[in-house]
Amino acid sequence: MNTAESAALDLVCRERGWKTAPDGESADLVLLNTCSVRATAEQRVMGRLGFYGALKKSRGAEKQPLTLVVAGCMAERLGEKLKEKIPAVDYVMGTSARSTFPLILEAVEKGIPPEQNPGFGLDAEKPVFSFSASHLEAGSEDQSPLGLKSLRSFVPIMHGCNNFCSYCIVPYVRGREISRNPAAILEEIRLLAERGVREIALLGQNVNTYRWEGRLPAEVHGKSLDFPGLLRLIAAELEQGSSGSPSGIRWVRFLSANPRDFSREAISVMAEHPVFCRHIHLCVQHGSNSILAAMNRRYTREDYLELAAEIRAAMPGITLSTDILVGFPGETEADLEETLALMEEVKFLYSFMYHYNPREGTAAYDLPGRIDEKVKRERLARVIALQKQHTQELLKSRLGSRETVLIEGISRKNADELITRTERDEMVVVSGKASMIGSFAELTLSGLRGNTFRAREINLLD
Ligand code: SF4
Repeated sequence: MNTAESAALDLVCRERGWKTAPDGESADLVLLNTCSVRATAEQRVMGRLGFYGALKKSRGAEKQPLTLVVAGCMAERLGEKLKEKIPAVDYVMGTSARSTFPLILEAVEKGIPPEQNPGFGLDAEKPVFSFSASHLEAGSEDQSPLGLKSLRSFVPIMHGCNNFCSYCIVPYVRGREISRNPAAILEEIRLLAERGVREIALLGQNVNTYRWEGRLPAEVHGKSLDFPGLLRLIAAELEQGSSGSPSGIRWVRFLSANPRDFSREAISVMAEHPVFCRHIHLCVQHGSNSILAAMNRRYTREDYLELAAEIRAAMPGITLSTDILVGFPGETEADLEETLALMEEVKFLYSFMYHYNPREGTAAYDLPGRIDEKVKRERLARVIALQKQHTQELLKSRLGSRETVLIEGISRKNADELITRTERDEMVVVSGKASMIGSFAELTLSGLRGNTFRAREINLLD
């Protein structure tokens, strides 16, 4: 979400004629788009702000003024307190205030100091969240008028979260769920297709609870649109676009999926439409029912296992990945064993694995039974070791299979090799030319080095 929102802010700058500075030291404006999920992320931002504060002082106001903007979740959480802590900060722009960014740029362009910027004075209206029109990241090759050439793009469909998992700060900094107008989603997807994008990822803290109750596109029957309905709409658009021919976007992913809200209908829509990649990031967090309850996840391990089995039955060969959080307060050795057993049963392709750190402002912060740091690290090491084993087992079982891949770029290690990815989110390296980047192709998974497949030849599809 941070990447998508940063891309949208970058686009606002480019559209007004701003250019990316070679480094922060020579910039006229520095924007830090912050994340609040972990306390360490916030500490790093404070360090960066200290650096830019010193830079600003050393430059002096006359030589080359530096405008310092803090955006994102940390800005939302701390608000004007950030300015009190670091006076060098000129603007604090929370997630709901992103639409005010052009006012900041306009003031900088005209040399108006922040205290005289009418959009940010005491009388300014409290901004309300609105989705940006486009979230396409600037590519390395400046070929389009806006310097955009990216093969993949995020498409936010929701903002905020209603779930209040007890360890998570997101609902406090992003507020309640807001779903994006499906017409705006389709418009962004059409724009991305025109720009040559081949793959999109629908984004939301919990995409499964998408619900739009405003004006609906003509092809939608009923009074509202839910997540399966949105998937159907997107599949129809991509398989037979507004121009009547299939779009250049052939793959659609989505994240994050909360198991609690993943409907059977969403599974069947995915299964019906090959445009949805055969990979789901299905966050489990833990394998013990008592810890899941303490985390307020509101599903059980049995619910999760049943859902995973249904997904696999509907789409054989699909890969699942997940998030696992160990060392939650009260976690016993038996709870950890249940997590390891769940991993054995599901066999994730990969996992994002963390140990719990208390986050002030969340419900879990005051929970008794905090786990010793050393024990947390040991438990995490066991989870990581098991995941590594599963990743290798799964990848080895795929050797010899014929796959469609999207060619994403040139290998950093060897300029004659291409980096490609399967729809199951597996990486494959193969010899080829830079001119092939952006094409879909077929290859055979012939070797495995670490977690990366090798292939001998590649047949371009389009
Ligand atoms: S679903 Fe839970 S973990 Fe995910 S953003 Fe919402 S509150 Fe946080």
